[in-house]
Amino acid sequence: MTATQAPAPRDPAAPALVELDGVSKYYGNIKALENVSLEVHAGEISCVLGDNGAGKSTLIKIIAGLHRHDAGTFLIEGEEITLANPRDALDRGIATVYQDLAVVPLMPVWRNFFLGSEPTKGAGPFKRLDVRRMRETTRAELLRMGIDLRDVDQPIGTLSGGERQCVAIARAVYFGAKVLVLDEPTAALGVKQSGVVLKYVAAARDAGLGVVLITHNPHHAYLVGDRFVLLKRGAMSGSHTKDGVTLDELTRQMAGGSELDELSHELERAPSPGDPGVRPEGDETP
Ligand code: ATP
Repeated sequence: MTATQAPAPRDPAAPALVELDGVSKYYGNIKALENVSLEVHAGEISCVLGDNGAGKSTLIKIIAGLHRHDAGTFLIEGEEITLANPRDALDRGIATVYQDLAVVPLMPVWRNFFLGSEPTKGAGPFKRLDVRRMRETTRAELLRMGIDLRDVDQPIGTLSGGERQCVAIARAVYFGAKVLVLDEPTAALGVKQSGVVLKYVAAARDAGLGVVLITHNPHHAYLVGDRFVLLKRGAMSGSHTKDGVTLDELTRQMAGGSELDELSHELERAPSPGDPGVRPEGDETP
């Protein structure tokens, strides 16, 4: 499937690929997450929005199998589970692309694409890496996602941040991920590169994956998202589907709504005597 093909309609009876229901996580007496619910469906993008310390990383760690939840239920395709470790998550089709991307900068793009899962040819003492296959597959898979790199032989460290994110997304799709978790993929990028990355996030959705997009940018979320969960100091401060919320409303909730009004009130400067329009005391002239 290419990025431009329309996604197959979702079977409404199918269970969510991933569902968190009232999940909590405590670090000692710190409530990192409290009663958070999230659904991730095939062919949809679920966005998790929150400011610093909201609990986004904790949520990723639970879905990626790094941490175990302390309360609530975690279901994968309708089955309640507790993931043993990140390998367990990966085996169940959950791929996580972290912001710092585990790549070897000096190695070519194709080598990074297959890192840890390199195909070999030959047997016994003649067994060696199948370099040609890796090169050709990488080129073809990137093209299939609509990513046209000049040269898959160039060191991945020479690609832009956005291009590296795109390679990581294409890699997850190629290795059969059902769920793709993206940890703030646009956080360090400019406007243009963010747009490119969001295009490939949408391409992964169109390839039928369920995507979890972690971000603190409501504009990016609203461009591609189907569902939105807002986190604030570990608690869920909002949960919407696209048709239930406008960008303005999402932005306002993300910015803290009433807190922002209060702040703007506090920041309003009291008029000083030097300001135009403020007359000295006793000045009665009309
Ligand atoms: P940021 O965007 O700043 O990374 P976040 O939304 O990812 O923030 P988390 O890192 O999930 O937030 O943290 C949520 C809360 O849990 C914070 O108050 C944080 O200090 C706390 N926390 C996270 N990890 C641990 C830990 N290992 N031990 C103790 N407290 C932790």
